This record gives sequence, C-alpha cells and structure tokens, in this order.
Amino acid sequence: MDSYFDESHHIMRESMKRFVQKEILPYVDAWEDQELFPRELYKKMADAGFLGLGYPEELGGTPGDAFHMIAFTEELIRGGSVGLVAGLGSHGIGLPPVLALGTDAQKRRFIPPVLTGEKIAALAITEPDAGSDVARIRTRAVREGDHYVVNGSKTFITSGCRADILTTAVRTGGEGHAGISLLVIETDTPGFTVSRKLRKMGWNASDTGELAFEDCRVPVENLLGQEGMGFYGIMENFQRERLSLAVMAHQVAQLAYEESVKYAQARQVFGRPVTGFQVTRHKLVDMATKITVAREFNYRVAARMQAGENVITEVSMAKNFACEVCDQVVYDAVQIHGGYGYAREYLVERLYRDARILSIGGGTTEIMKEIISKMLKF
Ligand SMILES: Cc1cc2nc3c(=O)[nH]c(=O)nc-3n(C[C@H](O)[C@H](O)[C@H](O)COP(=O)(O)OP(=O)(O)OC[C@H]3O[C@@H](n4cnc5c(N)ncnc54)[C@H](O)[C@@H]3O)c2cc1C
Repeated sequence: MDSYFDESHHIMRESMKRFVQKEILPYVDAWEDQELFPRELYKKMADAGFLGLGYPEELGGTPGDAFHMIAFTEELIRGGSVGLVAGLGSHGIGLPPVLALGTDAQKRRFIPPVLTGEKIAALAITEPDAGSDVARIRTRAVREGDHYVVNGSKTFITSGCRADILTTAVRTGGEGHAGISLLVIETDTPGFTVSRKLRKMGWNASDTGELAFEDCRVPVENLLGQEGMGFYGIMENFQRERLSLAVMAHQVAQLAYEESVKYAQARQVFGRPVTGFQVTRHKLVDMATKITVAREFNYRVAARMQAGENVITEVSMAKNFACEVCDQVVYDAVQIHGGYGYAREYLVERLYRDARILSIGGGTTEIMKEIISKMLKF
C-alpha cells in the first residue's frame, strides 16, 4: 500500500474514518430505510474539508491527489451505503466539466457554493432514449438572444431531485456527438421540474431523479466552453468517474469479504464454525485474492492517470474487472451468511443490492468492452 500512499494520505484516511464513525454509521440504516440522507451532511463534509478534496484552493477546495480521493472513497464506503457515497459525490461528476471547460467567472460562480455544502451539483446526461449511446441525446437548447431555451428530459440523475445546479448535456447543433453542448442549469429556473424520484433496487440513500425541461430559459453565460464541445467534456469526465466506480467496486467487495470472515468465524454449524469447512476457507481465499488483484490494478491505473498517461483502455479494464470481482464477492458473501445474508439487518444484503449498478452506471460492461476492443485495434 505504501508505494501509493504517503503520510498525508494516511492522516486523511484516519480523519475520514473518524468522520464515518461519528457522522454516518450511527444513522445510515435509517437513511437507507427512509431513502434519503439529510442535506446537512454535505455541510458537515464540507466543514471537515472533504467535499472540496482535489479542487483548487482559490475555489474553496482542499489540496489532494488521486490517492487522497481513493483513501476518501474507500473510507466513505465503510459507511455501508454506496448510495450515500454516490449522493454525496454527485458533484464529483457534476463539477469537473465546469473546472475543465468553464471560464474563471463560471468557476467562481458555480464551484465554491458546492464545495462549502450550500449547494448540490449533479450531472445530467442520460435520457429515457439515450443512455449508452450518449450521442443520441435529444434535449434541445435553442439560442434566443441572451438565452438558450431548453426542452427535453433526463433520467437516472443522481441527486437530481435536490440538486441546485445541473451540468446538463443539451443538443445545440445537428445530429451526433458534434451537436452536443454542456449547459449549467440552475434548478430554480422556471420550466425546470423533477418529474419523479425513481425507486431502485439499491443505492437507496441517494435520490435518483427523472427531470423535465419545458421552455427553460438558461442564460448563454452558462454554456461551458464552446457550442459543440459537450461530448469532449463528457468523455473526459467519464475516465475519472469510471476509475472511481472501479475503486468503489473493490472496496464494496472488501467490506463484504470482511463481513463474511467475521460471520463465518462466529457462526457454528454441525458443531464447528463455518470457517471450519475447507469449502468456506477456499471461498474466502478466492475473495481475498480477487480483491487484492482488482485493488492493485486500480491503484496502478490511478497512478498512471495522475502521471498524465493515456489510460482509456486500462480504465475500462479496471472498471470491468473490479465490478466483476465485486459481483462475485457479494454473491459469495450472501451465500456464506446463509439465510441471514438475505435479511435486511445484515450489511451484505445491502452490499449485494448496491453492487449491482456499478457495472451499469458510468458506462456498462458491454460499452467498456467496446472501448477496449477499439483501443486494442484487432
Ligand atoms: C442508480 C443510477 C444512477 C445513475 N446516475 C446517473 C447520473 O448521475 N447522471 C447520468 O447522466 N446518468 C446516470 N445514470 C445512467 C447510467 O449512466 C445509464 O443507466 C447507463 O449509462 C446505461 O444506459 P441505459 O440505462 O440507457 O442502458 P442502454 O444504453 O439502453 O443499454 C441497455 C443494454 O444494452 C447494452 N448495450 C448498449 N449499447 C451496446 C453496444 N454498443 N454493444 C453491446 N451492448 C450494448 C448495454 O450494455 C445494456 O446491457 C444512472 C443510472 C442509475 C441506475
């Protein structure tokens, strides 16, 4: 571990651990049951210096590199709700396009209020008829004087029901990816509505919204970069999001493994602990082996990305590998718990449900394979 993490990462990890123990673990089951966590948690995270991790100090951020982000994500997953991680982290996909394509004025306007926990940011790309095929989005933004008039809908938007700003993919030009732009849409703009909050298999503590835009007038100064640059911004963003999902996957698997070891040692069947059976020990060994390999590869890819290398192929591989490992591990974790693994009181039940979306969100397994096959050029 220490080849990637120095003293500053360890200090941050310890402080995140304390935050999770004090502010999340006592309440997380209730938040999952209520399908929402309180808005004050953003403020608490901000005050503790975690929300702005990796953002420039002049915008209210806290200095940090890829491994601070990884340590942060790994500890937050220990809160036991991946939905909470996704909800608290929606700005992690909503703000980077502002940082990459925005003007100084846009950055100063949109980023600091999110990093202080006052406002919530989200990323709105997916539409009812365009998920994997981003280039087919139909939400249209037509220029009228100093405004774009936006009409269309979005779905599956994490934090969509309570976001204050949405980094939104809109069509300003013709068909295909070249006609896509990114607009920051403030959700108090007349014509914007949350059509409904979606009910899901897992990620219950995060809100996932279906959104509508009806003659929503958005100032032209909210356009990020030039018209037609949206697809580029979206693809850049995907690399970090996919690596982050890969890290979430190895850590969900780690948590499920640790729960399984504890349970298998404590549970007595046929006069011995479940670890007394070789088949269980081998299952645990397979879990630990796969998790170690996934984690090491994720760290390696993060280090290379941080060094500025082109790791599009490796990021896609990392996501697919870690998600597959995670799926196998949570499956076996439930199996080791027997009937209790199917009961809400046991963490592995939630991890099993929460893991399922990791190989779908941010680009499906099949889309990752398409990318890899193109990059390998066979
Ligand atoms: C809980 C949750 C949170 C989400 N958060 C956000 C968010 O914050 N912002 C946002 O914009 N989106 C978000 N999404 C949307 C998510 O990114 C999409 O669901 C995902 O990209 C897949 O798109 P789709 O659901 O339209 O599936 P489709 O694209 O319709 O795919 C259906 C199936 O076809 C397969 N398929 C598609 N194309 C190909 C191909 N070329 N080759 C082989 N197979 C193919 C897919 O792999 C999949 O198995 C979220 C989704 C969920 C469920």
